[in-house]
Amino acid sequence: MSEQQQFDVIVIGAGPAGYHAAIRAAQLGMKTACIDAALGKDGKPALGGTCLRVGCIPSKALLDSSRQFWNLQHLFGEHGISAKDAKIDVGTMIGRKDKIVKQFTGGIAMLFKANKVTPYYGFGTLHPGNIVKVKQHDGSEIELKGTNVILAAGSDSIELPFAKFDNEYIVDNVGALDFTAVPKHLGVIGAGVIGLELGSVWKRLGSEVTILEALPDFLAAADAEVAKTAAKEFKKQGLDIRLGAKVSKCEVKKKEVHVTYTDSEGEKTIVVDKLLVSVGRRAASKGLLADGTGVKLDQRGVIEVDEHCHTGVDGVWAVGDCVRGPMLAHKGFEEGIAVAELIAGLPGHVNYGTIPWVIYTEPEIAWVGKTEQELKADGTPYKTGSFPFAAIGRAVAMGEPAGFVKVIAHAETDRVLGLHLVGVGVSELVHEGVLTMEFSGSADDLARICHAHPTLSEAIHDAAMAVDKRAIHKAN
Ligand SMILES: Cc1cc2nc3c(=O)[nH]c(=O)nc-3n(C[C@H](O)[C@H](O)[C@H](O)COP(=O)(O)OP(=O)(O)OC[C@H]3O[C@@H](n4cnc5c(N)ncnc54)[C@H](O)[C@@H]3O)c2cc1C
Repeated sequence: MSEQQQFDVIVIGAGPAGYHAAIRAAQLGMKTACIDAALGKDGKPALGGTCLRVGCIPSKALLDSSRQFWNLQHLFGEHGISAKDAKIDVGTMIGRKDKIVKQFTGGIAMLFKANKVTPYYGFGTLHPGNIVKVKQHDGSEIELKGTNVILAAGSDSIELPFAKFDNEYIVDNVGALDFTAVPKHLGVIGAGVIGLELGSVWKRLGSEVTILEALPDFLAAADAEVAKTAAKEFKKQGLDIRLGAKVSKCEVKKKEVHVTYTDSEGEKTIVVDKLLVSVGRRAASKGLLADGTGVKLDQRGVIEVDEHCHTGVDGVWAVGDCVRGPMLAHKGFEEGIAVAELIAGLPGHVNYGTIPWVIYTEPEIAWVGKTEQELKADGTPYKTGSFPFAAIGRAVAMGEPAGFVKVIAHAETDRVLGLHLVGVGVSELVHEGVLTMEFSGSADDLARICHAHPTLSEAIHDAAMAVDKRAIHKAN
C-alpha cells in the first residue's frame, strides 16, 4: 500500500451529486479527490454516474431518436410530408446514444482536470477517522484521508426475487438502453418514470408494450388530472398500462418470458420477448462503510442525514440518491453544491419545496410544488386556474394540442403553491413555476408577466389569469 494521501474533501461517487460537490469544493480552494468505480461500455473508467452512463442522458437520446421515428410515421402526414417505408436502424440509434454518453462522461474527466479535482478509479470504503480506502481496478489499494468526506454513492435498480436480471431477457435500465433489435413484445414491471420513458422508446419503434403496475392509481405522485390526461394520451399511443397488476412469477422459456400477475379478475400470464423490471431504485450503500464509522443507514440502506446532508459524524456528509428525498439528478446537483459551500463556511442551502419533476414521455409531464391531493390532505385552502394547450396557437400549429397547465395558488395570499403541466415542451415550461415559487410569487405576479406570442408559455399566463377567473382565451 502506498503512502496515505491527505485531502480537504474526498468525494465517493462521481455521479451528479458527487461531481458537483467535488468541482464546487475545488473551486472554493479545497484540495479535493473524487473516487468512482464505474466502467463504461468500453471497459474504461467512466465518470458521471447513473445519470450520464445509463440514466438521464442515454434515455433522452433514445427518447429523441424514437420520437423522430414516431413523428415521421404519425405526424408528418398532416404537414404533407410523406415518408413511406421509414425504417429504424437500431444499431445506428444505439451508436448515437453511446457517442453522446462518451462525450459527457469524458466531459466530467476534463472538468475535473480543469478544476484540479484528483480522480481515483476504483471502489471506495469509508473507515473510521475519515479514512477512505480505494480498491483500484488493477487490484491495488490506496488510502486517502479527508478532513471532510462526502458520500455520493447513488443508487442501483431494485431486483425482484422472482425476476432476477439476466441481461438478456430480464433487464433493468442498463439492458433496456441497449437492446440490439426492437423487441416484438416488451413487458415492463412498474409504471414509474423509468418504465414509462423506456416503454415509450420501444413502443414508438414498433414494440407491443405492456406495463404492469401493482398500484391501483396511475402516477399517484402527480396531480390527479395530469395523470388522467397522460394516461389517456398513452392509451391512444397504444401503451397497454394495466393497473393493480401484481406480478408473482417470471419464467424464461424458449427465449420468451412468461410473466404471471394477479389483478382484480384473477391470475393472468403474458408472454413477452423482453422484460424490463423498473420497480424503483435503492441506495447503493453496500460496501461503502467499514465497521465503526458511526454513519447510520436506515432499513433500506439509505444513509441518514440531517437537513444539511450531514451524517452526524464529524466531517462526513452524504448527498444524492443515497440519501432521503427524490431520486433526481438535479436534486443531487443542488445537494452537492450546498455541502461543498457549507464545508467552506458559506450558507449552502437546498429548497426541497421547489425541486421540479419531469417525465419525458409524449406528452411530457412536469410539476413543481404541491398537488391538489396534497393540499386537500393537509387542509390548505387553495384555488386553481387551468388552461388547455388546445387553445394555444403555437401548440396547435405544432400539431401538439394535448394537455394543459394548472396553477395552484393559496386561496388567501395568492402565493403560488404548485404548477402542474402535461403537454409538449413542459419540461422547460415548469421552470416558470420554480422561479415564481423561489421568489414567493403569486398567481397575479405570473399573470402580469408579459409572455411572448405565440409561445407555449402563454398557457401558463392564461392559467395564472384563470386563477382569478380572468383568462382571456377561454370561458371562466
Ligand atoms: C433510466 C433512468 C433515467 C433517468 N432519468 C432522469 C432524468 O431524466 N432526470 C433526473 O433528474 N433523473 C433521472 N434519473 C435519475 C438520476 O440518474 C439519478 O437521480 C442520479 O444519477 C443520482 O445521482 P447520484 O450522484 O446521487 O448517483 P449516481 O448517478 O448513481 O452516481 C453514483 C456514482 O457513484 C459510484 N459509486 C457508488 N459507490 C461507490 C463506491 N463505494 N466507490 C466508488 N464509486 C462508487 C457509482 O459507480 C456511480 O458512478 C434517471 C435514472 C435512470 C436509471
